[in-house]
Amino acid sequence: METIKKEVRLCLSCMEEHEVSTVQVCEQNIYKGKKVGYLAVYDYCDRADELTASEEMIKMNDEAFKTAYCRLIGGQAP
Ligand SMILES: [Zn+2]
Repeated sequence: METIKKEVRLCLSCMEEHEVSTVQVCEQNIYKGKKVGYLAVYDYCDRADELTASEEMIKMNDEAFKTAYCRLIGGQAP
């Protein structure tokens, strides 16, 4: 887990305002029988020790996953 940035704002994990870290995590998913590794972005709450993803992050992570899958099967990334 790698920290990209830190920002004081409302935390969606514990619903309090504090320093929230944006982190990059190496994830693995099985898609169509293939193991796909990609980098996902999350907010990390050190109080709840929890990862959360905003709608924007979910979209970004989905894109990262699709790109990694296309690379894996040797096709072109959309
Ligand atoms: Zn929090």
